[in-house]
Amino acid sequence: MSNPSRALVLFSGGQDSSVCLAWALARYDHVETVGFDYGQRHSVELVQREILRAGFVEKFPAWAGRLGTDHILEMHGFGAIGETALTETRAFEMGEKGLPNTYVPGRNLVFLTYAAALADRRGLESLVGGMCETDFSGYPDCRRESLDALEIALNLGMAQTFRIETPLMWLTKAETWGLAQSLGGPDLVNLILEDSHTCYRGLRGDRHPWGHGCGDCPACDLRARGYSEWIAAGSPDVAP
Ligand code: ZN
Repeated sequence: MSNPSRALVLFSGGQDSSVCLAWALARYDHVETVGFDYGQRHSVELVQREILRAGFVEKFPAWAGRLGTDHILEMHGFGAIGETALTETRAFEMGEKGLPNTYVPGRNLVFLTYAAALADRRGLESLVGGMCETDFSGYPDCRRESLDALEIALNLGMAQTFRIETPLMWLTKAETWGLAQSLGGPDLVNLILEDSHTCYRGLRGDRHPWGHGCGDCPACDLRARGYSEWIAAGSPDVAP
């Protein structure tokens, strides 16, 4: 049986998954990371995730010994099915059902299923992801209800006792910064500001108060608004 103090974090190199990695390092004895190369238009997030992992080791000695292997799973076939703004050179637009065309149908379900297969092999019990309902983009595979159903299916289908942990599920983007601060103080906030990547256009761009990015895509906009709300509120801590 797998060990309950061992976790696998779905780590894209974005703001949310970086906070999830910190959350897991504070909680579990052993933490591995997995990233998905599904033919993104930009590989910058795959580069930033390595920089972030190195930053965690350098700036947080208490966590360094807990951070284990990094895995990259190639999923170009799935990216080809998606055919959305993340994988093709289309402009951002709202599609049918009111979902932005950055939506890849079922992406989180597929990622978690791959992650569970990997976790089974690696003896990891908790699957940690940054899925969130609060700043709701309309992605049905981010809903906790969807993930509860998937958790049951994975445990039945793999004869396992996985838990899908979603520490950001009920937090706003502003509160996510507060969680980062309570987990790792200003060093963690600064690491995530400087090195996490969110921009849909794959641009590092200028260093804005909220980090790097083009500054006007939906992802940059969400990140910028969350950060300014958190600062305006007096940068409160948010307990894990
Ligand atoms: Zn952007």
